[in-house]
Amino acid sequence: MNLNGKKVAVLGCGRSGIAAAHLAAAHGAARVCIFDSDPEAVCHDATVELIAGAGEKEAREFAPELVVISPGIEADKPWALAFTCVGAPIIGEVELASRYFNGRIIAITGTNGKTTTTALVEHILTKSGRTAKACGNYGYPFCEVALADAPPEFAVLEVSSFQLETIASFKPDVAVWLNFAPDHMDRYTKVSDYYEAKLRIFENMDEKQIAIVRVGEKLPPIKPQVIEFSAYEGSGLLRYEGTCIKQIDTVVADLAGTALVQSHNAENTMAAILACRAVGLKDSEIVPALADFELPHHRCEQVAEKGGVLWLNDSKSTNLHSTEAAIRSQNRPVILLIGGKDKGLDYEPLLPLMKGRVRLCIVFGQIARPLARVFAPHIETIRVGTVPEAVEAATRRARAGDVVLFSPGTSSFDQFSSYAQRGNCFREAVLSHLSTQPHPQSR
Ligand code: ADP
Repeated sequence: MNLNGKKVAVLGCGRSGIAAAHLAAAHGAARVCIFDSDPEAVCHDATVELIAGAGEKEAREFAPELVVISPGIEADKPWALAFTCVGAPIIGEVELASRYFNGRIIAITGTNGKTTTTALVEHILTKSGRTAKACGNYGYPFCEVALADAPPEFAVLEVSSFQLETIASFKPDVAVWLNFAPDHMDRYTKVSDYYEAKLRIFENMDEKQIAIVRVGEKLPPIKPQVIEFSAYEGSGLLRYEGTCIKQIDTVVADLAGTALVQSHNAENTMAAILACRAVGLKDSEIVPALADFELPHHRCEQVAEKGGVLWLNDSKSTNLHSTEAAIRSQNRPVILLIGGKDKGLDYEPLLPLMKGRVRLCIVFGQIARPLARVFAPHIETIRVGTVPEAVEAATRRARAGDVVLFSPGTSSFDQFSSYAQRGNCFREAVLSHLSTQPHPQSR
């Protein structure tokens, strides 16, 4: 793409917007300006121009020839559309970076497991001597990777549906589709809109490329060669038996003793193995790297074990599907702490799995009342306001042998600025209660 002499508007002054501005400038754009509708927006990088509090008037005055939009901004809303007044295309930061990145791209999408799988693929590639950078939705802008003095051989790109909405010619070498379940109903009006956005990952791929897809995902026909995996079904190339990933009857990897042994992480591992094979790695390079992989924080992370009670922080669970995976992977009676922002999801489908496994539900946050209405007729349910109150209730009720699973199943924005802040709040509440309370079995 030739940007020489062009005016480029970057919408959104986050880290990826700033990276996109630098990339556009480095490739010859005559003027690059970041626009943000927030009058308080500040750019900590003095080398880029920012118009804070920009409205449609400023958009029309600038009249860019290319618009690069941040994933948090909706491209079909009037503010963004005002920037297309002279017919400029709107693309996302991922699309822009992919036009200038000369290495190979492993793109990873799914409702859950993207970050874990992205980190794992980067870990395997790096340990086997390749250069690789985890980026995209992972928190490190792809444009920064494309702009590096010595770009890596591989971009391991976590891509969200929001980022896929604004691709045009983006064509990964390998695409991983981990799973799909309803989510983000605060952004999409229909589940099918979310699904269609995710499906765009395959849009420009052809027969020479590889798609790694979980068994049973019900995709429409796609052009790349499909390789399937599943921890729950036997029909994929890789399956899970006990703690072993198997191909036909051969053990590919034994996950016992690794951080990846829970079945949902076994699926992430299968996807990572297949992605690494697809770019030429041998199992003898891949498998040893699994041993010392550490899960990212707030994903079924052990906070404490005291008095026979295990406390797990799964604050990154922001939808039913991840809470379902967390419950399924427990082999003790569960006290489930669930709640947060009401983002329009239906929790009824969780009930069959919960019955028999979850002995007590503690619901909190904005969604507490509707959750209690769904769960209380079937499982003992306590309604509280906040995360510390939920921890306090769990401390009172936990018995030796239980697992207290903090898996909120929705986003944190009713009371927190991020899932990480919520997870830290849980951790601190647990540690402070445990330091002052007697052991549960001694009461
Ligand atoms: P994402 O980046 O897609 O949000 P993460 O790796 O950050 O995925 O995990 C998000 C949540 O989903 C966590 O609660 C985690 O325990 C759970 N999870 C991880 N992998 C899977 C999977 N393959 N299937 C279901 N849930 C998963």
